[in-house]
Amino acid sequence: MRLVILGGGESGIGTAILGKKKGYDVFVSDFGKIKENYKEVLTINKIAWEDEKHTESLILNADVVMKSPGIPEKVPIVKKLLELKIPVISEIEFASQFTTATTIGITGSNGKTTTTMLVYHLLKQGGLNVGLAGNIGKSFAWQVAEDKYDVYVLELSSFQLDGIINYKPHIAIITNLSPDHLDRYNYDYNLYIESKFRIIKNQTEDDFLIVDNDDIEIQRWLQNNKTNAQIISFSIEKELERGGFLNENNLNSNINNEKFTMPINELALEGKHNLKNAMAATAVAQLMKIRKQTIRESLSNFQGAEHRLEKTLKIQNVQYINDSKATNVNATFFALDSMKTPTIWIVGGVDKGNDYDELMSLVREKVKGIVCLGVDNSKLFSTFSSVVDTMVETTSMEEAVKIAQRMAEKGDSVLLSPCCASFDLFENYEDRGRQFKQAVYNL
Ligand code: ADP
Repeated sequence: MRLVILGGGESGIGTAILGKKKGYDVFVSDFGKIKENYKEVLTINKIAWEDEKHTESLILNADVVMKSPGIPEKVPIVKKLLELKIPVISEIEFASQFTTATTIGITGSNGKTTTTMLVYHLLKQGGLNVGLAGNIGKSFAWQVAEDKYDVYVLELSSFQLDGIINYKPHIAIITNLSPDHLDRYNYDYNLYIESKFRIIKNQTEDDFLIVDNDDIEIQRWLQNNKTNAQIISFSIEKELERGGFLNENNLNSNINNEKFTMPINELALEGKHNLKNAMAATAVAQLMKIRKQTIRESLSNFQGAEHRLEKTLKIQNVQYINDSKATNVNATFFALDSMKTPTIWIVGGVDKGNDYDELMSLVREKVKGIVCLGVDNSKLFSTFSSVVDTMVETTSMEEAVKIAQRMAEKGDSVLLSPCCASFDLFENYEDRGRQFKQAVYNL
């Protein structure tokens, strides 16, 4: 069987190693440049590859093709493969054929990484032999090739879900839905939603789907479509009989007649959105039979993920917070909502068609000053200049942080929550977040 892999990144290399181990004739083709360390891995494992081109004669003879999630279906080579009816699948689909491990699949528009890491932390603290994969760290396929774990927690993007045929997670989480990546879905929000719900398409009645009861789009989809899995919901708006909910100042989770409760102020992560993430993760831990005491301890000692409401230094009683991963309005909404002190807000970048009106009342209530950090800040100015006294723009992170420091008074916070993609001034959101932290250290 000839396995052709399009894309020589983390998922491509992992798939190549697994495919080779399982006896496939493997070929990796990348239209860009493959990183040196990956090339070495391929060479050591005697796997054929090419980069900076796609040679059709070496690709169109595939029995099966693994397409990396970053490659759109529109590119000519993928179109040709589809015309020839050659199966084009994702790394998750390929790797799942070679493991009997239990998987927990986590998708949604925001909160995937945080929830995935939280679930992993809870299960690991609970003593399970658990791996972390998907969009995070070492690829799932690579880990399956090493055959180390009984359980995997997988962060799944919509692009990974698009290439699924038979894969099913035993427990799926859909954190929430809001428009994102629409350029890959013909600017049709429904197609994007359908893609997220592919996570449950192969589930049976022995499986579980954990969802946000307060999310209108999720609830609408569930009303109009059939699901096989058992549904567990969580809410921060109303008390539920089953699943996760709040009462007084406690987080509650009732799963299979097991009641878990814990004071909110003991949770490591702040903000309403993180209450939701904690509820989803707790439900998984209960389903996986982790002890309540362990769940409680793990929720209180979890160290959050980098670039997600990450508290950096406090300088002269001003707290600097890095939320560089907030690349859309919904994420920034929850960041502003969680602020308990007057805030200097660093915002801007590549706007993906943002509607800033949703943020208006939070900005009025919490934001003292705005530093716009983007190439084009005109929309931010026209939206917020009437609401905020001081608004300044710059194209340098160093400068943005210095301006924010000058605006801030004792007891305030400086929040980088850009609401936008980073490509105008930075390599990616990680680069933006690290530059922010460096600029803060330089103060
Ligand atoms: P993803 O992996 O889906 O992009 P992350 O956990 O990396 O999600 O968080 C992305 C951004 O969204 C961060 O700014 C974070 O603070 C915010 N966020 C996290 N969880 C949620 C949630 N449940 N709802 C809305 N925003 C969230």
